[in-house]
Amino acid sequence: MILKNGLCALPGADALERRDIRIDGETIVGIAASIEPTAGEDVFDASGLEVFPGAIDPHVHFDEPGFTHREDFLHGTMAAARGGVTTVIDMPCTSLPPVTTAANLREKLAAMGGRGVVDYALYGGVSGHRIEEALASDMEALAPDVVGFKCYFVSGMDTFTAVDHYGFGGAVAKAAGLGRPLLLHAEDPGVVLPATAAMKARSIAAGRAPSWDDYVDSRPESAETVAVASAIALAKGREGALHVVHVGTADAAEAVAAAGATCETCPHYLAFGREDFADKGSSLKTAPPVKSREQSARLWRLLESGAIVYVASDHAPAPESEKRTGSVWTDYGGIPGTGTLFPYLYSEGYRAGRLSLRSFLRATSGGAAARFGLSGRKGAIAVGMDADLVLVDPSGVYEVRGSELLSKGTITPFEGMRLAGRIRETMVRGRTVWNAASGIIAEAGYGKHLRWGYR
Ligand SMILES: [Zn+2]
Repeated sequence: MILKNGLCALPGADALERRDIRIDGETIVGIAASIEPTAGEDVFDASGLEVFPGAIDPHVHFDEPGFTHREDFLHGTMAAARGGVTTVIDMPCTSLPPVTTAANLREKLAAMGGRGVVDYALYGGVSGHRIEEALASDMEALAPDVVGFKCYFVSGMDTFTAVDHYGFGGAVAKAAGLGRPLLLHAEDPGVVLPATAAMKARSIAAGRAPSWDDYVDSRPESAETVAVASAIALAKGREGALHVVHVGTADAAEAVAAAGATCETCPHYLAFGREDFADKGSSLKTAPPVKSREQSARLWRLLESGAIVYVASDHAPAPESEKRTGSVWTDYGGIPGTGTLFPYLYSEGYRAGRLSLRSFLRATSGGAAARFGLSGRKGAIAVGMDADLVLVDPSGVYEVRGSELLSKGTITPFEGMRLAGRIRETMVRGRTVWNAASGIIAEAGYGKHLRWGYR
């Protein structure tokens, strides 16, 4: 098949360039100014469309098995496909059982493995409640099937608990030895737990209902900067194995980059500040919470410079009954983000001029592919790579509607946002999995399990 006349985002280029792309089966086999079809070869006319590498979303919670009333693998990957995401990496902590042992991983693969419409990789989990087993044998047993490990300094889950500093030090050493990153939810419990107690007391003392300011103040910027400082100290000599997830505080991101570790941020930290809770309420609730608009502006600059290597969605939806409980303390923290990740960064990053083309490509695909051992076949438009492509109509406008995301979760802080550009087609390994005319085309189970070093 030949994709003809598209404006293509090629590695290292400063601007889009008109190219023809030849795809044979699952793979890009030719890129040139003009490629003539052979007899009987299909031609897809991409005139007027921009062609980007399929986005990689390396931080999603698809919750299967266990919490599938919030999200399942089919709906999560459908939402990804609709949003131009062709590979997701699923978190180990929000399924039951959590992915902390090889047996649990097999159970997860059996539950969700035949259901995705985009490609996927998995993380293994390091939970505080079985840290000794993790270090003794679990991490090693999981390593062949996962592209990294995930742990928390502070966790709201009974089924996946936080690690202490000593356990984290052991886990980062183990991960480094296994050649996998250790991903850390970096908020310090010594800040978050007493701050939360103080903020709960504050509203009671004032004789008023808890407010969104109480929630934001219960997880202040210092929770992130202190956690990151600890993590860097504990990872000394193995900083390259440390990856800090969903950073919302620019000082924390700067410290991570300076230490030679890596971090990600999320669209909600780039798009919103705490002021926005007044309008958006619990649709904006995440942990960590969004900070100030000044932080957002700094995060954009760190993303452009490469100090933040990529953007992930932290997709974690919940139904209305859990999302709107009537209290800022009990409303579910998490948003359905995988469908808005690429459209938001395309519009507000690349098109708005906050990100160069190169930084946009690193942030949406190349950075994550390199970090998680997938860059042999994923993360760029080049000969020999999987034909994972997203085709964008640059003249279109996409108005976000939670009810149209294809996720089980419909409550999004991006509701009503008007974004430049409209996705027309998402291809995974040479096959259209979603397009604007027909919706989801791929059958459930088309998505493939990717392991570290996939080629
Ligand atoms: Zn998460």
